[in-house]
Amino acid sequence: MTEWETERLHAHYRQALSVDRLLYDSETAHQRIRVFENGTFGRVMTLDGVVQVTEADNFIYHEMLTHVPILAHRAARRVLIIGGGDGGMAREALRHAAVEHVTMVEIDAGVVEFCREYLPGISAGAFDDPRLRLVIADGADFVRDCAEFFDVIIVDSTDPVGPGEVLFTETFYGRAKRCLAPAGILVTQNGVPFMQGDELTNTMRAFRALFADATCYLASVPSYAGGPMAFGWGTDGDARATPLDVLEGRFAGAGVATRYYTPAVHLGAFALPPYVARLIP
Ligand code: SAM
Repeated sequence: MTEWETERLHAHYRQALSVDRLLYDSETAHQRIRVFENGTFGRVMTLDGVVQVTEADNFIYHEMLTHVPILAHRAARRVLIIGGGDGGMAREALRHAAVEHVTMVEIDAGVVEFCREYLPGISAGAFDDPRLRLVIADGADFVRDCAEFFDVIIVDSTDPVGPGEVLFTETFYGRAKRCLAPAGILVTQNGVPFMQGDELTNTMRAFRALFADATCYLASVPSYAGGPMAFGWGTDGDARATPLDVLEGRFAGAGVATRYYTPAVHLGAFALPPYVARLIP
C-alpha cells in the first residue's frame, strides 16, 4: 500500500508525492522534518508537510537565486543567505571563486544536521568550505544586530508560516537592506504567484518603498506546484540593466556549469506576464 505525503500549503489545492521509502521523520524545536524517497523527485525533504527541496529539481531554484544576483552584481564578494538549511544555496554561491565569504543564517540546526546526513548531494560539500560561516539563529535577529555588509543577500526561507513568517515583513526587509553594501542586491524566495499572489504583492510593496529597483523574476520549479515561482529583487544599483554580452562574459569567466541558468535565461526571467506584473504595486 503506497503511502502519500500530501502538501496542504494552499487552501483549495493539494499535491501528493508517494513516499517510496521514508528515511527520516522527526520534530525539531522549530518544525517537523521528513526526508523520503520519491520515484519522480528522488530524495525529498518537507518541513511541516511542505516540500522544501528535492534532489531532482533543486538545481533550478538554487541556480536562479544565486547566479542571477551574483553575476548581475559587478563584484559580489560577500554573500548572506538567510535560511537555506539544506545547503543548496551555499553550494551554488560558493561555486563562484570570486565569492570570498558566505554567511548562512539558519534557525534550525536540525535541518542542517539531517540534510548533511540524508541529502548530502544538495550541499555537495558546501558546509566544509572554509569560506562558509554557518550561524544558527533567527534571520530576523541576525539582520537586526548585523554590523557587516554584504553584496548579495538571499532569503531562502520557508513560506510565511511558522518560523519563516518574520522573513516576509517590512521590518525584516528594512533591516536586511541596512546590511547591503552599496549597490547590493536583495533576492527572496517569494512563492508561486498564481497560488500566493498576496505574498508577492506584500513583498513588492515593501521593496518599492526601500529600493530604487524593485521587481521580481520567475522560474518554474516542478515541486513548487502552481506555475512559475517568483524571486523578489531589490537594489539601489543598476545591476538589472547588465546587458547580455556582459553577463555572458562574467558567466564564462566564473566557469560555473549549470543546468538551468544561462545569461539569456537570466534576462528572460525578468519578463513578467501581465498576471504577475499586476501583483507588483
Ligand atoms: N526552497 C525552499 C522554499 O522555497 O520554500 C526553502 C528551503 S530551506 C530548507 C528553508 C529554510 O528556512 C529551512 O531550513 C528553515 O529552517 C529556514 N528558516 C525558516 N525560518 C527562518 C528564520 N526565521 N531564520 C532563519 N532560517 C529560517
